[in-house]
Amino acid sequence: MHGGRDVANDASTVFDVVILGGGSGGYAAALRAAQLGLSVALVEKGELGGTCLHRGCIPTKALLHAAEIADETKEAAEFGVLATFQGIDINGVHKYKDDVIAGLYKGLQGLVASRKVTFIQGEGKLSSQTSVDVNGQRIEGRHIVLATGSVPRSIPGLEIDGNRVISSDHALKLDRIPKSVVILGGGVIGVEFASVWKSFGVEVTIVEALPHLVPLEDENSSKLLERAFRKRGIKFELKARFSGVEYTETGVRVSTENGKQIDADLLLVAIGRGPVSAGLGYEENGVAMDRGYVLVDEYMRTNVPTISAVGDLAPTLQLAHVGFAEGILVAERLAGLKPVPIDYDGVPRVTYSNPEVASVGISEAKAVELYGKDKVVTLKYNLAGNGKSKILKTAGEIKLVQVKDGAVVGVHMVGARMGEQVGEAQLIYNWEALPAEVAQLIHAHPTQSEALGEAHLALAGKPLHAHD
Ligand SMILES: Cc1cc2nc3c(=O)[nH]c(=O)nc-3n(C[C@H](O)[C@H](O)[C@H](O)COP(=O)(O)OP(=O)(O)OC[C@H]3O[C@@H](n4cnc5c(N)ncnc54)[C@H](O)[C@@H]3O)c2cc1C
Repeated sequence: MHGGRDVANDASTVFDVVILGGGSGGYAAALRAAQLGLSVALVEKGELGGTCLHRGCIPTKALLHAAEIADETKEAAEFGVLATFQGIDINGVHKYKDDVIAGLYKGLQGLVASRKVTFIQGEGKLSSQTSVDVNGQRIEGRHIVLATGSVPRSIPGLEIDGNRVISSDHALKLDRIPKSVVILGGGVIGVEFASVWKSFGVEVTIVEALPHLVPLEDENSSKLLERAFRKRGIKFELKARFSGVEYTETGVRVSTENGKQIDADLLLVAIGRGPVSAGLGYEENGVAMDRGYVLVDEYMRTNVPTISAVGDLAPTLQLAHVGFAEGILVAERLAGLKPVPIDYDGVPRVTYSNPEVASVGISEAKAVELYGKDKVVTLKYNLAGNGKSKILKTAGEIKLVQVKDGAVVGVHMVGARMGEQVGEAQLIYNWEALPAEVAQLIHAHPTQSEALGEAHLALAGKPLHAHD
């Protein structure tokens, strides 16, 4: 029985939508489709909630919060508070993290059940353009949504053994705090783990092939993060291509093409994630693919009229909230509504390290490419002028990118808690606000959102707490 209905004994059941994969993309599609009155089957081989809830966003953010508490305890005396940092109880940290996951997992299961989604536990496979096979049963649907997500990727010849060479999945369950770690990859995941481990007292070195950490961000944000990481004692090798790893008596020795060798207890491979599509019947049933990704148009339609794909399986931004939005878009389209395509530049991006890096819109480099150098105006507002940031003792900047005499097309922020400011930044970008319009809005004092207000005051030509 699934969701009160015995699908196995009901051969006549044809669902409006069958969704393969119950992660952020799949379950969002299921919830919205059910809300719009469609009958929905959701097939999941593991746990509802997928990567984000169980192995991604939520556990990493719990670890980062524990890391923040560790740092604040160590620095308590700077605020006149007497506290002694005794160390990290890693089992306690895991318990806290797992409790957060368990609570959200329970809530999500309840939500799916209450919307009358037929949840089918099992590994599914696309068996035709209108069916999925699972547990020896054929589930028919007028429409199929592929949402099988992604898994950690490695590079040829680098085997993730789960012991000394690990992926983020292993790192989240590590029952010890290593003395030293090399992290391969300075993107979001690598940088977040570097931040956590440093706060937990680990010696961390990031190896990144590109010239900067968080290389997809505006260069100014990367440089500010690098400065902050240097100050925190997080080491990084940039423009350093990995050439090999060997086991030593106590751990690993990582080599780079430019001749560096770094010894550590562990190597975390954080070079990205690859789509889960092999052997699932996609190609056999005519779905157009590219390097394992399912190709989609702006409405998340594949080349097969009865099949859509959402989330990390599609070659769009690999973020949970993108998965949610794509799932909702598909559900609304299938229900006959007229959803608008997603503007991926308008999706907020946050790296939750200490300090946080948050952005929306396009970088200065991209704006110059699109509009020409003469048409692009930028402004940097230093958080040193922001009372609340000063109280928090955080350093950083907000950088705005504007089309000359036009809208703000990029907001790039670095500093503690800047992820919480990205909501307003996103409204500014997505509503194509002019600096003078944002300057009209009064921001509460003293908040960090005020820094966003002040940056726009300055860009509108009437700076308040800003030095010329
Ligand atoms: C360490 C880490 C931190 C992250 N932090 C953030 C963050 O802070 N913010 C953010 O927005 N994003 C974050 N992400 C990315 C985010 O987790 C993903 O973008 C999101 O989970 C993608 O959702 P999805 O539904 O496409 O895929 P997934 O969440 O991977 O879900 C796919 C589901 O399909 C199931 N499945 C696969 N094959 C089958 C099959 N054959 N039959 C049945 N079920 C199947 C899987 O079991 C899985 O549950 C993070 C990722 C990682 C790894």
